[in-house]
Amino acid sequence: MSDTKPNDELNTAKAFSSTDKNPTNIMPEKLNLNSKLQFECHPGVSCFTACCHNIKIILTPYDILTLSKRLDMEPNEVVTEYTEPTYLEKTDMPGVQLKLVGEKRACPFVTPAGCTVYTDRPSACRYYPIGMADFHEGGTDDAKEEKFFFIVKEPHCKGHEEPKKWTIGEWRADQGVDVRDEMNKEWLRLVMRRKSFGHQATLSEAAKRMFFMASTDLHTFRRFIFESSFLDTYEVDEQTLEKIKEDDIELMHFSFKYLANTLFGAEGMTIKQDKLQSKIEEIKARQEKSLLEAEKEYEELKAERDRMRAEREAADNQ
Ligand code: SF4
Ligand code: SF4
Repeated sequence: MSDTKPNDELNTAKAFSSTDKNPTNIMPEKLNLNSKLQFECHPGVSCFTACCHNIKIILTPYDILTLSKRLDMEPNEVVTEYTEPTYLEKTDMPGVQLKLVGEKRACPFVTPAGCTVYTDRPSACRYYPIGMADFHEGGTDDAKEEKFFFIVKEPHCKGHEEPKKWTIGEWRADQGVDVRDEMNKEWLRLVMRRKSFGHQATLSEAAKRMFFMASTDLHTFRRFIFESSFLDTYEVDEQTLEKIKEDDIELMHFSFKYLANTLFGAEGMTIKQDKLQSKIEEIKARQEKSLLEAEKEYEELKAERDRMRAEREAADNQ
């Protein structure tokens, strides 16, 4: 599969969360970092924590990592305890979303006093109510990019009635979303690539399982690198190996590169020469075997046809 594609659109508001699918809640105005925003969310708003109920919060690999550190749990324990499976962006790519609890379908981290993991809350909780659309042509880093912001104004959210005015840039800095953008970008791009290809291209079950494992359980992904035949197959320099052995963020970025390569044929991973050679020989041997089988089948059919012809001629001569 090639690395090219028509157009990727990263849409943070759509990709990470949703409460209300009504598109009329999206204000039809393209905004930039200097655009003005009148909005504030604080414990004094009448709707405080309303948006932490009955909502779909997709967790990105970075969200899972930060939550696991906050909760002092392994990433896979966070996934088991607090999430349930979902599909990402109407594709067949498997992911996880926060598992809502109780009659009110509350986020597992919400209390009447607010969010118990606030400083480590997921990306979706930080973006709301500003969505970002990022059109990225061609799928490579130097491709033409157009980014803009838009406001989501849902009737239940009273933060829009608060007097505080700031720019989108100031609001984003306050929410710490720039780091999230950077951490989530390549992963979200994988999902958008899948979405752009649609169902014309098939993704094997093994590829989907690998995507899920790398996205939700980086520590198992680390064992896959260091304890399987991975390093016999791929060239990975010593410096990178040292980094990904210890550093979860480095490992996460490495996993994005590996997934882009194995799922979509993107550059960035090199297969070892001897592995490549043995793979070529394996393919050649398979082709030769198929050719021999086809030839054998042809010979058998020919023999059968000759036999039938001989029988017919013998019958005609009687
Ligand atoms: S993680 Fe925190 S901010 Fe996000 S939905 Fe849950 S309680 Fe609300
Ligand atoms: S103001 Fe909006 S973002 Fe804040 S708690 Fe209310 S609904 Fe949620």
